[in-house]
Amino acid sequence: MGGLIRSNIPKFRLPPEVIDEEFDVIVEQGAKLHLNHPIESMKDLLAEDYDAIFVGTGAPKGRELDLPGRYDTDQIFVGIAWLESVAFEHIESVGERVLIIGGGNTAMDCCRTSLRLGGKEVKVLYRGTRDRMKSSDWELEPALEEDVELILNHSPEEYIVEEGKLVGMKFSVLEWHKDKNGKLKSTKKDEVIIPCDTVILAIGQENSFPWVERDIGLDFDEWEVPHVDPITYESTLSGVFFGGDSAFGPKNIIEAVEHGHQAAISIHKYCHNDSLTDRLPYGMNLVTAKMGIHEWTYSNDYGYENRFEVPTVPMENRFKDINIEVELGYEPGQFKKEVERCLNCDIQTDFVA
Ligand SMILES: Cc1cc2nc3c(=O)[nH]c(=O)nc-3n(C[C@H](O)[C@H](O)[C@H](O)COP(=O)(O)OP(=O)(O)OC[C@H]3O[C@@H](n4cnc5c(N)ncnc54)[C@H](O)[C@@H]3O)c2cc1C
Repeated sequence: MGGLIRSNIPKFRLPPEVIDEEFDVIVEQGAKLHLNHPIESMKDLLAEDYDAIFVGTGAPKGRELDLPGRYDTDQIFVGIAWLESVAFEHIESVGERVLIIGGGNTAMDCCRTSLRLGGKEVKVLYRGTRDRMKSSDWELEPALEEDVELILNHSPEEYIVEEGKLVGMKFSVLEWHKDKNGKLKSTKKDEVIIPCDTVILAIGQENSFPWVERDIGLDFDEWEVPHVDPITYESTLSGVFFGGDSAFGPKNIIEAVEHGHQAAISIHKYCHNDSLTDRLPYGMNLVTAKMGIHEWTYSNDYGYENRFEVPTVPMENRFKDINIEVELGYEPGQFKKEVERCLNCDIQTDFVA
């Protein structure tokens, strides 16, 4: 159980024990789990006559880069599938010279994972400039700190394979400028071959719904993304709701949780025949439950200091084992100050089922 959270976010960033603990809190409230139970037909599911259905099947398909040489070797991998194989220990090593193609957070996880599996020269190649990379600073910085090389303005052209062995990759070196309409255009300046023995593709993720029949009134756009109402999370088929990466394409865990929350509100209303669009205004609409003595035993003020940097495992110890969590968490003094910065998240919310 856990999807991309478990299979793609590397253990050195998010240990499985943390995921188990979080999921257990939810499951223990009484959700009935059917594990090892893939849904193969939406039509069949609808026939089971549930009052409502929530789809949270993620965006599990990694994008391919079908250039010459792609299928002449077994040393080219699609990042998402590769990370999953690493998580489930089907892959335990990588070549010494690894090229990661892409500029997003998946590329950052692939390069840092490669370092932990034996990669010695790990390079991330992106076709544009740094400001157009999708990776967050907090994902790129640790990768650079760990000695990953970032090569910008290189567009992949060909995998160089000799007798089934991957030996390099050819790139066009690009220069970017704006045309008279302000549109970015590239000019090829050069061509280079970078030697390597593994290539990992991290150029995007897509939705995939082979199990949803197209004649049931559930509409998709040209990229396989369902038409989902951004307020109610209902699809074009009444009573079928979507959330997480499956709803609007790949995002992140916090957004997936928020989608689930909003869809749950809709499903509650749907089951009570209430209007789905009649809901509280978006934003903060909770009132503090702190009363009496707690008002002065707790601090109610927000601290306006900047976020503290989380202490990390020293570099020389990071690569000994892929399971070593890099971020150590705050020390007691920092933790207290950091808590003051937040919107009273120190209060444990109780849910009553
Ligand atoms: C490499 C990588 C790193 C990431 N790092 C971060 C990060 O650090 N922080 C962050 O917030 N987000 C991160 N994300 C994004 C985050 O993982 C996703 O946004 C989040 O997991 C989406 O949650 P979800 O529940 O929508 O889908 P998923 O987590 O993908 O879960 C979908 C579940 O549905 C199941 N499923 C699929 N099809 C079927 C079917 N037909 N029948 C039954 N079950 C099915 C799958 O097995 C899976 O369990 C990362 C993503 C990637 C690829």
